[in-house]
Order: sequence, then structure tokens, then C-alpha cells
Amino acid sequence: MAEKVVIIGSGPSGWASAIYAARAELEPLVFEGAETEENRVQGTMPLGQLNLTTEVENYPGFAAGDMGGYLDSALPEELVPYRDPKAESHRAVTGPELMELMRQQAKNFGTRIVTDDIVEVDFSQKPFKLKAKSGDVVEAHAVIISTGARANWLNLESENKYKNQGVSACAVCDGALPRFRNKPLVVIGGGDSAMEEATYLTKFASQVHLVHRREELRASPIMAERAKNNPKITFEWNSEVDEVFGNDENGVTGVRLKSTKTPGETKDIEASGMFVAIGHTPNTAFLKDQVELNESGYIVWKTPFRTHTSVEGVFAGGDVADDHYRQAVTAAGTGCMAALDAQHYLEEHGLA
Ligand code: NAP
Repeated sequence: MAEKVVIIGSGPSGWASAIYAARAELEPLVFEGAETEENRVQGTMPLGQLNLTTEVENYPGFAAGDMGGYLDSALPEELVPYRDPKAESHRAVTGPELMELMRQQAKNFGTRIVTDDIVEVDFSQKPFKLKAKSGDVVEAHAVIISTGARANWLNLESENKYKNQGVSACAVCDGALPRFRNKPLVVIGGGDSAMEEATYLTKFASQVHLVHRREELRASPIMAERAKNNPKITFEWNSEVDEVFGNDENGVTGVRLKSTKTPGETKDIEASGMFVAIGHTPNTAFLKDQVELNESGYIVWKTPFRTHTSVEGVFAGGDVADDHYRQAVTAAGTGCMAALDAQHYLEEHGLA
């Protein structure tokens, strides 16, 4: 029997959709993604990008406080994310905590969860068909796509060679590794992610070189100031990495910077790690021409202020359809909208 609504993805958008759909008695089924090495390397593990961040200070409703008691009462013990014993007790919620709380909230209302990827969809017939990596095929009257976006890479051969040996796109996942302790590190990018990663890495590194291709930051003023005021961060303006140095024994040992202003000018920097924070790519490859995408690969919302895609009965929420705001709270907001839009669609067609 076809499901009423299947939700693909497990970031704030997916869980907000699930909470609303479950409370509307649509019995949602969520494909939260697979815990595979491939997903780990490309940053598409379950619980999305927030699961790869530290404190989340801008999600409304979570003022800094003592999270411990709340987490212990809201989550089963085995799901309480790792707590840094040295962290201050009065602090903001972390990304992994927020995501486990959202997942649990969806489960509390009866959401069913499959820990697998959807790898193929057929939206040409109704009910829609969705194929999981396991080979299972699920049918659904309505689908909500909330697969988010993932980090971009420089695409240098030497960068690829040293992935997991000093090259990373996630400071929070990898920054505490022994290889980075008390060593100089490189962070690339000029946006909020680069500022956040550089600031975070100063906990471990002896020095962080922040490499940006222009001399003006894209980051929000508060994040930029925090990085600029950090004595361990040095800005390398008008520079791009054009080679990662290393060897099999030690992994990354440094990078070569190329000036974006003066042709031929280069500078070598010693570093035991390179963290790439240069924007994102939407996770839409599995859709293969089934839904209209824009030139950057993001799903197109066809009706202003609605989450309808080019296929009737298929809705999209969160970063997979939003290359502009890309915030946890906006993702949760459009996830809620997608569930309400799906509910109205199912009711109109007598499928709810
Ligand atoms: P972003 O704002 O798109 O910034 C990407 C940066 O990478 C830009 O500075 C860009 O340079 C640079 N870049 C892009 N391609 C490059 C390449 N091939 N080589 C070298 N540099 C390259 O992305 P983001 O920092 O990931 O942020 C995305 C969204 O998430 C933003 O809306 C941001 O506010 C939000 N965010 C918020 C927080 C927070 O509030 N705590 C934390 C992280 C992210 P140019 O500037 O020259 O284009």
C-alpha cells in the first residue's frame, strides 16, 4: 500500500515536516539517509549539516543555559550527543543536540524512520515510486524532498589525495584529531562557515591561516569580527590554494598559495591540515530530471510563498530549494510549509 507522505532527508526541514505531518495523522515515513563512508566523506550523513556544527546561537527558543538536564529528560540516554566535559555548563545548544531533539520530537508523534538513502525516484506515475539504496521500493502519494546541501571542494588532485589525511570540509568533525593539535592549520573561504571553522580550530591549532580569494569578507560582521579579533588567526588575503603538500607518512604538511592579484606570485605555508569552507552544492543528483532544478542544481519552488515543485504532489523544504537564506530556522520553516502543502494536496485528492 502506498504511503501518504514520504520525507527524504533528516535536517531541520525534514524533521519539521515530519512533526507537522505526524500531528496531521499522515503517518509520515522519513528516509534519514545512510550511515556510509561515502556519505561521511561527502558530508551527507543523517541529521544534515547542523550535525556537523558546534553551538547554535541563533535558533530561536534555545537561549544559552544548562542543557544537561533538558537533554537527559528529552532524549533516551544513548541518543544524548557527546558532551565535552570541559565545555561550560551555561552554553548554547549544539547542532547535534538540536538535531537529536528534532528527531525525537518527530518520533514522539509516531514518525517512522528508515536509516537509508533514496537513490532513485520515479515521479512520472502516481503513486510515486522511491528506490532506497537497500533496493527496497516505496510508493507514496506525496513526497517532501529535504535533502539539503553539502560542502564544496577546491577539486585539486592534491586536495583529493589527502582527504582524511589532513584535508577536511568539517572542522567540527575532525578538528580535535591529534594530528591537528598545536600545529598550524589552513582554512579556506570568506563566509560565515570559514569564520566559524577558523575560530573553532584555534582551540587546537597553534595558528590558523585564513585564506580568502578577495580582500573583503562575505561573512556577517559579528562572525568576521570574532575571527579578526582572534590573535591565533592570520588572514591571507587575495590568495588561493593551488597545491596541497604532503607525504604518505604524515599526510598534509603545507599548502602553496597563489596570489589572485599578482600573476606568478606564490607563497608556501606550513600546515598539518587544510579545512575547506567555500560554499555548498544541493543534494539533488538522485532526482535525475524528475523535478525542475535551477542552474545551480537547487529545486525550484514553482509558486511564490509555497513549496510546490514542478511535479504536483512533490514538495521541497530547506536548503535543497534555498540557496539564499540557508539557515536552520528557515529550513525548519519551509519544512513546516511543505508538510502543510502536502496535507492540503492529500486532502484535496481524497488521499489523506
Ligand atoms: P558562502 O557564504 O557562500 O561563502 C563561501 C565563501 O567561499 C565565499 O567567501 C567565497 O568567496 C568562497 N569561495 C567559493 N568558491 C571558492 C573557490 N573555488 N575558491 C576559493 N574560495 C571560494 O558559504 P558559507 O560560508 O558556507 O555560508 C552559507 C550560509 O550559511 C550563509 O548564509 C551563512 O550566513 C550561513 N552560515 C551561518 C553560520 C552562523 O550563523 N553560525 C555559520 C555558517 C554558515 P567570495 O566571497 O569571493 O565569493
